[in-house]
Amino acid sequence: ASTLTIKDLHVSIEDKEILKGVNLEIKGGEIHAIMGPNGTGKSTLSSAIMGHPKYEVTSGSITLDGEDVLEMEVDERARAGLFLAMQYPSEISGVTNSDFLRTSINARREEGKEISLMKFIREMDNTMELLEMDPNMAQRYLNEGFSGGEKKRNEILQLMMLQPQIAILDEIDSGLDIDALKIVSKGINEMRSSDFGCLIITHYQRLLNYITPDHVHVMMQGRIVKSGGPELAQRLEAEGYDWIKAELGIED
Ligand code: ADP
Ligand code: MG
Ligand code: MG
Repeated sequence: ASTLTIKDLHVSIEDKEILKGVNLEIKGGEIHAIMGPNGTGKSTLSSAIMGHPKYEVTSGSITLDGEDVLEMEVDERARAGLFLAMQYPSEISGVTNSDFLRTSINARREEGKEISLMKFIREMDNTMELLEMDPNMAQRYLNEGFSGGEKKRNEILQLMMLQPQIAILDEIDSGLDIDALKIVSKGINEMRSSDFGCLIITHYQRLLNYITPDHVHVMMQGRIVKSGGPELAQRLEAEGYDWIKAELGIED
């Protein structure tokens, strides 16, 4: 199992400090949720972990099993076992979903140990069936014209096929109807094992009705200001964030 460790992380966008000292450790076997109001830096955290060039880490560290993630190129981060589902996945014209997925799987394998086409197709078929995806989705261009729900299911398909050590899922639940939400949750729950650690970033508690996190964190103003168990998410759903602001003396 792997451990992703984030220490005192400060991140700026265009010289404006967004993250102001984030500490977080995610181990294989654990599911963490970060919740928080809009604009508090949740997506900035996931972008910094995956190495988006616009997000400048000004201090602090991110390590995966002691290896410096910040020194890795974006593709090296994926090969090291990190997976990021972005809030707004990009479209890639001319590349089919199936080709993209097979290339991604093989990029993480040693030369000569590529997944066989037969095995790949079988696994992809099975996983798409579990996620109740239209089989045509395999041959469509990546994310091109995908509906919001199709994009999110497709991210979970990638997750299940790539089998990363640590996944960061940013608003994987946004824009999903209840059926799609259940399917996405089923996929994530299917991944649960001692070899898989997951950070779920969400604005809403409802996803956490289907995936019970081990740890819940609240982010405000670029910091994790409170951590607890699943009961913390339930209290946020019932009472919103004002009580935390009051507790901490935070003004809007
Ligand atoms: P959250 O995901 O919690 O809603 P974000 O991390 O997306 O918050 O945004 C945190 C802050 O950083 C916001 O004030 C937002 O406007 C700003 N921000 C995020 N991304 C960019 C960007 N690419 N360029 C400029 N400002 C950004
Ligand atoms: Mg947002
Ligand atoms: Mg966000």
